Amino acid sequence: MQKVAVVTGGSRGIGRATALLLAREGYRVAVNYRSNQAAADDVVAQIRAAGGQAHAFAADIADEAQVVAMFAAVDEVFGPLTALVNNAGILFKQARVEELDAARINRVLAINVTGSFLCCREAVKRMATRHGGSGGAIVNVSSAASRLGAPGEYVDYAASKGAMDSLTTGLSLEVAAQGIRVNSVRPGLIYTDIHADGGEPGRVDRLGALLPMQRGGQPEEVAAAISWLLSDAASYVTGSFIDLAGGK
Ligand code: NAD
Repeated sequence: MQKVAVVTGGSRGIGRATALLLAREGYRVAVNYRSNQAAADDVVAQIRAAGGQAHAFAADIADEAQVVAMFAAVDEVFGPLTALVNNAGILFKQARVEELDAARINRVLAINVTGSFLCCREAVKRMATRHGGSGGAIVNVSSAASRLGAPGEYVDYAASKGAMDSLTTGLSLEVAAQGIRVNSVRPGLIYTDIHADGGEPGRVDRLGALLPMQRGGQPEEVAAAISWLLSDAASYVTGSFIDLAGGK
């Protein structure tokens, strides 16, 4: 059967590395982006130049109508969905809890939790055997912050990833008998632009040196774990978490 994957936030960072790897493994890859079409188009062009299949799909994952429309469009372009990588996420700049207002907290939860939830729902509707699907696999990109809490920095972000972990656990149990596996990766400090956007360039170098492995991670190292969890090699794995955090 043809493998079809949606990678949310696929235009850069971990999403980009995952889209490129899945395409090399033979997936038709739906590269989701919110606003940076040029970056998404660049990923698509790179995949096609290497002989793979990819298409860019715009959608803000926090917007329910846009998510529904995107999955319908993926059906039309690529056929039945077999894999979802819930990678899109945001992190605001470091702040203590006293500085967090409802607008920021709600925005983090809307994207990291509600957005991932909506994408899971659309994937389950297509993959579940009770809906006539042939099964599939979902990987949620959580964070070491869900375990460590990010005190004094991003407790809102940590809480959103904790909610994502509960989503992984609960959904994995709910859809196990429907042929769908749901797993998670929890990266630690990875070299992507999320840190520059979050307000601290150089953060991965500074804190990565303090880890047992004495370095930050590369997006490709996370993509490799995502690809394994999606693959048939992980056919008996569901509700599991892979920590990619340099030993912390
Ligand atoms: P990134 O900022 O490069 O990538 C995030 C992507 O998500 C971007 O392309 C962004 O445009 C997209 N996105 C954000 N909001 C969106 C929305 N509403 N709709 C659609 N797309 C949206 O950062 P990254 O490090 O590659 O992050 C990928 C995932 O990895 C995130 O979920 C992040 O929380 C997680 N993560 C990253 C690290 C790290 O150190 N880089 C550590 C732990 C977890």
